[in-house]
Amino acid sequence: MSHERGETDRPTAAAESAFTVLSHELRLEILLALWEAPGFSLSFAELRKAVDERDSGRFNYHLGKLQDHFVVATDEGYELQYPGHRVLDAIQSGVFHEETTVEPFGLAADCRACGSGLTFEYGTDCIGRVRCPDCGNRALEWPFDPGGVADRDPEGVVAAFDRRTRLIWSCALDEVCPFCAGRIAREFTGAATEEGTCVGVIEGLDRYEEYFASDHPALVYVDCERCSFYSFLPVGVVLLTRPAVTGRLHRTGVAVRETPLWDLGFVVDADALDVRSTAPFEVAIAVEDGDEPLTAVVEDGLAVSLEAGG
Ligand SMILES: [Zn+2]
Ligand SMILES: [Zn+2]
Repeated sequence: MSHERGETDRPTAAAESAFTVLSHELRLEILLALWEAPGFSLSFAELRKAVDERDSGRFNYHLGKLQDHFVVATDEGYELQYPGHRVLDAIQSGVFHEETTVEPFGLAADCRACGSGLTFEYGTDCIGRVRCPDCGNRALEWPFDPGGVADRDPEGVVAAFDRRTRLIWSCALDEVCPFCAGRIAREFTGAATEEGTCVGVIEGLDRYEEYFASDHPALVYVDCERCSFYSFLPVGVVLLTRPAVTGRLHRTGVAVRETPLWDLGFVVDADALDVRSTAPFEVAIAVEDGDEPLTAVVEDGLAVSLEAGG
């Protein structure tokens, strides 16, 4: 990992004590009871009854530990606050305690390497994988919380996986961390430029080969300056939020919103990319998904321009 954390930007004592506050079962039960209550609010007596705590001193002690940040006292009783909601959201995502899997099943999309049908699967490592069972091509892999798998049929799972992955990628490319809202640093990087050399941060990454798009000649490296999030995104993802491109594709019969990421050639196909320059970076992307091929050029700063023809 290129990301070196100094002592100064590690979580502060305040953040660590916030976790300590949540370390008691009764405190989590209090948050859960408020979450389930109308208006996220209960009186002292209702709340104590909801968590079934007979010892009022003990109940009072633990409620006091949550107060002012996770829970506030109001005229009517106690009300769940935004930080309390976020604690419950993290638990409900299932990443801390659920081990869900989805066995491989066929998708309505073909492998761009060999033409066989792609499959989706989901493992206990919380990664969704769209791959080709015949040639082993990894079309797309990305973390997905167990909450995305629960209460959905297979079609619903892949639709949610596509939507959420898009949202996270777009947010990160816009320099906002999708997990902590912190600042994202982004830059082009490349493994296989015309000169056959590595350019940018990937030179120092020994785990880079594990990344599903490591065969792309250029990628956008995104790195949160605040939390642990960092990744490498296919350059073609930039085009999904450029109306000049999506409008052109719409007119030629490509529904960019309805087509899943793994079925958009300009996003997942390494061969669609041509690195014209690395200093500064200039990447041409052949967009051949519609009837009328076009070339989109992405430059440093992620400015996009269109050229006629593919
Ligand atoms: Zn294949
Ligand atoms: Zn972050």
